[in-house]
Amino acid sequence: MSHRIIQRARRFLLYAKIAIRSPQPYQRLRDLIIGNLLFALPIPVRKRIFNGQPHFCPVCETPLRGFLVLHRPYHRWCPVCRSLPRHRLLYLFLNRYGFIISKTAQTVLHFAPELGIARRLMQLPHFRYITTDIEPSSIHVCSDIEHLSFPNDAFTLILCLHVLEHIPDDLRAMRELYRVLKPGGTAIVMVPITSPATVEDPTITDPVLRERLFGQHDHVRRYGQDVVLRLGAAGFVVERIGVNDIVTDPTEITLMGLPEKETIFVCRKIV
Ligand SMILES: [Zn+2]
Repeated sequence: MSHRIIQRARRFLLYAKIAIRSPQPYQRLRDLIIGNLLFALPIPVRKRIFNGQPHFCPVCETPLRGFLVLHRPYHRWCPVCRSLPRHRLLYLFLNRYGFIISKTAQTVLHFAPELGIARRLMQLPHFRYITTDIEPSSIHVCSDIEHLSFPNDAFTLILCLHVLEHIPDDLRAMRELYRVLKPGGTAIVMVPITSPATVEDPTITDPVLRERLFGQHDHVRRYGQDVVLRLGAAGFVVERIGVNDIVTDPTEITLMGLPEKETIFVCRKIV
């Protein structure tokens, strides 16, 4: 427990340092403090405060008065389960593309999972759900995505959301995803697409400079849609799924606080 408190305190100090050196220091610091105070409240309390209309979070299935915009304009947090737009989109995708409804047994590996979506997925009886991250916290297995400790063909479904932009050798990581995926299985990959073509510079290590150039203090590159070529080079057959392929009605984007532009790269291992 004390280890977790020290870890949180260190993370808070790092974020505060980056906020102070950002172009909007007061707003970033205010959001950091509000976010930490709010999410320290128990879930039932947050549910009581924010329950209402006209929004709905598909992850925690809570009707909401609104989503919280904290840290960045496109970060619309569910105040109850803490999901972000991409997590709500992922959940809808899994639901509407049969991964949840079919009840087919899935062995699932989820990288660096966020609490809200992880809590929901681990409740699914047909999901044998394993989480992994390089940093020990509440995850099941501590593992480096460039050198995974799992055997070949171990998983039928891999979830890797906004992880690869943090990884120095992303092609090696993609090859590891391919190795541990069972033939016929699916890896769901999402990365922020913020550039016409992928740009990276491994010599840039300063967190403030990385934030300025790559969009976040711990990103090592900006991806373009050409990430699909890297995934293909790792062995995957890749299908791009957009937001409009998932929603049944455009009003769902506002209703559920979904991203307006986001690509889900559905990567299949076909041998
Ligand atoms: Zn929620």
